[in-house]
Amino acid sequence: MKFSVIADCYEEIEATAKRLEMTSSLVELLKLTPTRIVDKVVYLTQGKLYPDFVDVQTGVAEKLAVQAVAKATGESERKIQSNLAETGDVGETAQRFLEKKPQATLFKAVSLTVEDVYERLVKIARTSGSGSTERKLSLLAGLLTNATSKEAKYIIRIVTGSLRLGVADMTVLDALAVAYGGGRDAREALERAYNISSDLGIVAKEVAEKGRSSIREFRVVVGNPMRPMLAERLSSSEDIFEKLGKKFMAEFKYDGERLQVHKQGDRIMLFSRRLENITNQYPDAVDLLREHVESKDAILEAECVAVDIDTGEMKPFQELMHRRRKYGVNKAMEEHPVSLFMFDLLYADGKDYTLEPYLTRRQKLEKTVTETERVRLSKSLMIHNVKSMERFFAEAVERGCEGLVCKSIAENSTYQAGARGWLWIKYKREYKSEMTDRVDLVVVGALHGRGRRAGTYGALLLAAYNPSEDTFETVTKCGTGLTDEDLEKLPNMMERHKLLHKHARVKSILEADLWFAPSIVIEVLGAEITLSPIHTCAMDTIRKGCGLAIRFPRFTGRYRSDKSPEDATTVEEILNMYRRQLKRLKESHAMQL
Ligand code: ATP
Repeated sequence: MKFSVIADCYEEIEATAKRLEMTSSLVELLKLTPTRIVDKVVYLTQGKLYPDFVDVQTGVAEKLAVQAVAKATGESERKIQSNLAETGDVGETAQRFLEKKPQATLFKAVSLTVEDVYERLVKIARTSGSGSTERKLSLLAGLLTNATSKEAKYIIRIVTGSLRLGVADMTVLDALAVAYGGGRDAREALERAYNISSDLGIVAKEVAEKGRSSIREFRVVVGNPMRPMLAERLSSSEDIFEKLGKKFMAEFKYDGERLQVHKQGDRIMLFSRRLENITNQYPDAVDLLREHVESKDAILEAECVAVDIDTGEMKPFQELMHRRRKYGVNKAMEEHPVSLFMFDLLYADGKDYTLEPYLTRRQKLEKTVTETERVRLSKSLMIHNVKSMERFFAEAVERGCEGLVCKSIAENSTYQAGARGWLWIKYKREYKSEMTDRVDLVVVGALHGRGRRAGTYGALLLAAYNPSEDTFETVTKCGTGLTDEDLEKLPNMMERHKLLHKHARVKSILEADLWFAPSIVIEVLGAEITLSPIHTCAMDTIRKGCGLAIRFPRFTGRYRSDKSPEDATTVEEILNMYRRQLKRLKESHAMQL
């Protein structure tokens, strides 16, 4: 298939902010795509070459892209650079300079195909070692020489990681259901396949080649991380009993980093909560797991916690930041050792356990893991009454945990990959205070700072995630809690997410000075949730014309780099917090009367 077909479709998608139109353009593109390359088309459309858990980057920064455009067109780098300063978009700049060179395209012998582009981009990404910058440059310039100006625009955006068409995973699944699955009712099976493989390419290829029935048979694969099951939150033990029934299991909620462990014989792979392959960060955990997981092949979940080896005491989450590094791993490992607390088992020796209820999984976990000082099962207790739960909670907090995760033991308590549901409920220390819960919000915009903050940000515009609409809805502006160091770091951090206009998936009434693609998640502590006509979070749900806003927000200093924007606090959660706050208020009024 010609690459120009893709470029035309991208142009169409870019011209709309409406998800339905986006989906139908994508459906058209998928229908035109030969099944053997459908995975590649899906990756490219999301500006990638592989699924996220494969850690391969093209390694082409804006500067190298400018050099490639110069080399392909014969224009000076300075001229291209100054145009880039005007457009702010290296893809658009590339297009402009290639347009100026009609002769370059006139003599092209053949049109570029999708395979040509994909293979060349992979080659660029795989080029490493000394002299690699030069080689990447000539590979990219060569590709541009054969491209039309429109194709060049998208090639450059893909290669520099700035495609940002706004095509979310859920939009791709919608389009796959229509294009190959026979209609919308294939959507659920497709979503499950995606949730257990985290690879839209594989899912697309499977359904395109074998049809919708194969998607129902889709199985867990060791080596492909599963999207994690997530917990809802509640702030009183009574409410938890109401949701989970008379009897449930409570486990310590360890304050560390979630690890999804994949074992394939002697090979251990570790995936983060965001499904990045972080095996290299934890060689100690890899050794421990190789030794203490009995099954040949298995997928397990653990919380990895920083510990004081001498006393065995657990240290807070922040300690693990020292382990987030590519270099100096061994030194960091010695200075900041970790222990593992295993809390779930999803696959073992050929059997998919995700469809088994909690107690069956826990039993298998107990059989599979040999406990030692540094590899333990999460501490758990069967709960029958509020008193024993409160006692267990106090013990958890005293031991340095955040609180409890209460887990349903009902027949339907399967592992729901990628879903936040009521089968797991977290009960945290801070929910007991007067303050509103901590929330993880997505930075979607910023307002310029004034006075002491001139030249940096005055406040960040923050949004919650709405999974049913796949949108980000603003809920607060936050300027408090940002230290001088944050203010220096943030503009650099946000630079690569900057947009010229509001992102298609962001719903905002407020006008920001700067807009960002939803990417960075930060933790915020608020004092209260109020109705607000200027924020779009849960708009019209409680009262017509009003959304919900978090008052007096303060950045806690915690960047949730372990969360993707779709993992942020949801609109539904904020709505629940608002309702609980109302309930508390009413109760305290009643007590005063
Ligand atoms: P938080 O921000 O509260 O850590 P989260 O959004 O990362 O939560 P949730 O699913 O809401 O994720 O809360 C459960 C998290 O708690 C898991 O992601 C996991 O990292 C951690 N955790 C610690 N101990 C346990 C446990 N025993 N069972 C399940 N999860 C646990």
